[in-house]
Amino acid sequence: LVRIRGLRKAFGTHLVLDGIDLDVREGEVTVLLGPSGSGKSTLLRCVNHLEKPDAGFVEIGGELVGYRHDGDRLHELRTRAITRQRAHVGMVFQQFNLFPHLSVLDNITEAPAAVRGVPRRQAAERARELLARVGLAGREDSYPRQLSGGQQQRVAIARALAMEPRLLLFDEPTSALDPELVGEVLAVMQDLALSGMTMIVVTHEIGFARKVADTVVFLDGGKIIESGAPADVLAAPRHERARSFLSAVL
Ligand code: ATP
Ligand code: MG
Repeated sequence: LVRIRGLRKAFGTHLVLDGIDLDVREGEVTVLLGPSGSGKSTLLRCVNHLEKPDAGFVEIGGELVGYRHDGDRLHELRTRAITRQRAHVGMVFQQFNLFPHLSVLDNITEAPAAVRGVPRRQAAERARELLARVGLAGREDSYPRQLSGGQQQRVAIARALAMEPRLLLFDEPTSALDPELVGEVLAVMQDLALSGMTMIVVTHEIGFARKVADTVVFLDGGKIIESGAPADVLAAPRHERARSFLSAVL
């Protein structure tokens, strides 16, 4: 579903992504691991064209993200076309990013109604189903401030699902949570994975990676230094950098 080739991105003179090649097959879960500053968030943001790569490309479902070919040159797509592409890619952040002034229901129905033109009643019905799916049936009239961090993050996941994405990106979705709330969010993510959702997940939750990931990718200094089945990469990393990182987070 996702094909990344030769992706490079620099901020000024700082090369943050240094030639990333990565494939994510339909229905698979890829976990990205790596030290702070290794480029994990930047890589996720390139998948959504929130960052423009300096070289290389991202394809989703065979479609180039953010650009179109014009002969042998690439032209950036117009904002509207980029918005249309992003509608198929859900993103869940560390800091939930719910709209504080909107109810849970309105947080979930806002994008489908505004971007996809789904009728309000239909969007609301779907939102109630999604709330049940993330274990929050009946909380549609609450406001984000009335919910725990774990509940807010589950609303954020329901909101991403409301757009019926082909791909979900998670950037450290449990890092801002109190430890006792981490499990409920990981359980929802595991359930999504089992249902066949294609996901790229940046997390330091090694237990989740071991249980749920099809592929674990280890990033260091903007390069993929290890990649493979969790049993191989987590149990017997070949690189010293990966070994020391894993022994620090385990
Ligand atoms: P963390 O685990 O801390 O979230 P990360 O692996 O997600 O780290 P990135 O956020 O991708 O790392 O950042 C990689 C490097 O790029 C960092 O050194 C960061 O300071 C730099 N960087 C990221 N975004 C920008 C930006 N918009 N402008 C300048 N530098 C940036
Ligand atoms: Mg990050």
